[in-house]
Parts: sequence; C-alpha cells; structure tokens
Amino acid sequence: MPTHSASIPAPSLAPVLTIDDLSIEFPAYRSTVKALNGVSLHVNPGEIVGVIGESGSGKSVTAMLSLRLLPERSYRVTAGSLNILGRDMLAAQEKELLKVRGRDVAMIFQEPMTALNPTRRIGRQMTDVIIHHQRLSKDQARSKAIALLRDMHIADPEQVLESFPFELSGGMRQRVMIALAFSCDPQLLIADEPTTALDVTVQRQVLLLLREKARERGTAILLITHDMALVSQFCDRVYVMYTGAVVEQGDTAQVMADPRHPYTKGLLSGLPEQVRPGEALMTIPGQVPNLSALPDGCTFRDRCAFAMPKCLERPPLLAIDAAGVRKSACWLNAAEQAS
Ligand code: SF4
Repeated sequence: MPTHSASIPAPSLAPVLTIDDLSIEFPAYRSTVKALNGVSLHVNPGEIVGVIGESGSGKSVTAMLSLRLLPERSYRVTAGSLNILGRDMLAAQEKELLKVRGRDVAMIFQEPMTALNPTRRIGRQMTDVIIHHQRLSKDQARSKAIALLRDMHIADPEQVLESFPFELSGGMRQRVMIALAFSCDPQLLIADEPTTALDVTVQRQVLLLLREKARERGTAILLITHDMALVSQFCDRVYVMYTGAVVEQGDTAQVMADPRHPYTKGLLSGLPEQVRPGEALMTIPGQVPNLSALPDGCTFRDRCAFAMPKCLERPPLLAIDAAGVRKSACWLNAAEQAS
C-alpha cells in the first residue's frame, strides 16, 4: 500500500483511485433505482480526470460514494470494488474514513456555502481543519491558513480569515474551499461541479487556480461536470457516463477531436465552437430514462439518431478499439464490439 506523506505526495505509479465494475442501487418504494451499472474508472497520480454526463448519469453518485458520503442505509453495493490508495473504501470503518477524508482525499462541492459553516469565521474553520489533520498549534495553524490563502492569490488573507462566509463573494468562497482542500496535501481532490454556481469569468479563474495548484503539488483531480467545455480545457482524460455506466473514455484531446459514441457527439454538439455563426446550439433530444426501469438493449437508443434493431436486442459492451487506446459502448463501433 502506498504510504502517505504529510507534506509531499508519495511517488507512486499505482492509481490513487480505482473503481472496478461497480454497481449500486437505491431501494425505493416499489422500485429500485439502479444508479451505477458496472462502472470502472481510475485516476493516476497527478492526473486531472473528468467525468461528464447529464443529471442521472451517475457521475455525482460516483464522486460521493468514493468518499462514502452517501447516507449509509440508502444504497446497496451489488457488485464491484472501490479503492483509494490501496484501501478498500467500501469495507472501511468510520474511523478509517475520517482519516482518508481531508487528509488523503479532499472534496470540493458546487456551493461552498453548504460546506462552510455560515455562523463561524473563515479563520476558525480553516484552523480547525488544519489542527484536526496535522499536529500544529493554533498559531502554527493560523500561519498555515494565511500562507494557503496567499498561495490562492488572495491579496489580504488576514481579512478573509476574519470574515464570515456570507461576507465573501462566490469566487472568493470557492478559493477558500480550494485552500482548505489543499491544506493537508491530499493525493486526490474530488471536485463535484465546483464552478457551476459561478459566472463564466470567475469559473475559469477558479479552475485555472485549481489546476495550477494541483500541478504544483502533484495532486490528482477527479472533476465531475456536465460541461464539456470545462473537460476540454482542464482534463487529461475523460469518462463519459450515461444511465450509471461509462459509455466512452479516452484521452480528452482524442475524444474531443473524434468522439466515438453518439451520446458524446451530442454533448459536443452543444459547444458554441461546434456551431457555425447564425446556427442554433444543438441539444440531445429526449430525456435520460428512468433508472428504476431501464430499457433493454442500449439505454441511449430512444435518443439516438443511429439506433438499429440490434440496439434493442443487446446492450453494447464498453470495448477497446483496435489500437488499444479508446473505449466506447456502441454497436456502431462493431469491430470493437466483436473483439
Ligand atoms: Fe445508438 Fe445503437 Fe450505439 Fe446505442 S448502440 S448509441 S442506440 S447506435
């Protein structure tokens, strides 16, 4: 098992996060929501990996389950495994989970107000987290908090420490969250729609900052988003999810230049740069099917312009291409499906 260093991420070639054939379901009244259906993904040390999909694709469930943040009795794991730094996260006890969260893996949420306590000053919240994970005195923790905020290009960190969350702008709150996330030098940072609540300019600044600090420290990032533009600008690799399964994965530049799955093509066609002047932005027709009554065959077929009889009969597998590089789950890529 890789060892953890409090200051410098341990050099390791093993993935920091490995999810293998994971399926989970949420029992509901007279039905079962099949939220994840055989998901496999990994994040290597220092990599920035995007997971993209519409609401109901399973991307946020994957993020939350990685740190066991879903209500414990609300779901059942029906297959597969989930490992972080060699730890079996599905079997870990609460004490072990508390050590992993924040120290080895940090999480940034869409709206920092939900993660920050609105009634406590930023300084108190930051020093509490730093003291919880590191053996530092109050003064040392405060100095570290100031250094972290300065490192996030915050000009007046002392004033921010004295502020309550509601006194800061959305962009500044997210910078504080990023500082907090990096405070214990995690090896993996999970960012779930971290900039959705921000305007476009601030969104880009915050993501550039996140990437800059991750690259400096060698921290891996799992970026959960519905925005293909963010993936194209910030991620090394991408997993495209639909109805709780990965339908395409690969190097971001390759996926952007040559998407293999019609769903990925649909997501890309919504990007402004894909549209000629005067043309309307494309959207994917229809809706994500009900996860408690998934259709037979390919779950995308009711929305797919290329659907054929075979798509109704059997679900396509996530298969690798002849070059051994790209993976997609679509009968159109018949050679991959046959291999
Ligand atoms: Fe479309 Fe068929 Fe491919 Fe599914 S398997 S994405 S329905 S062509």
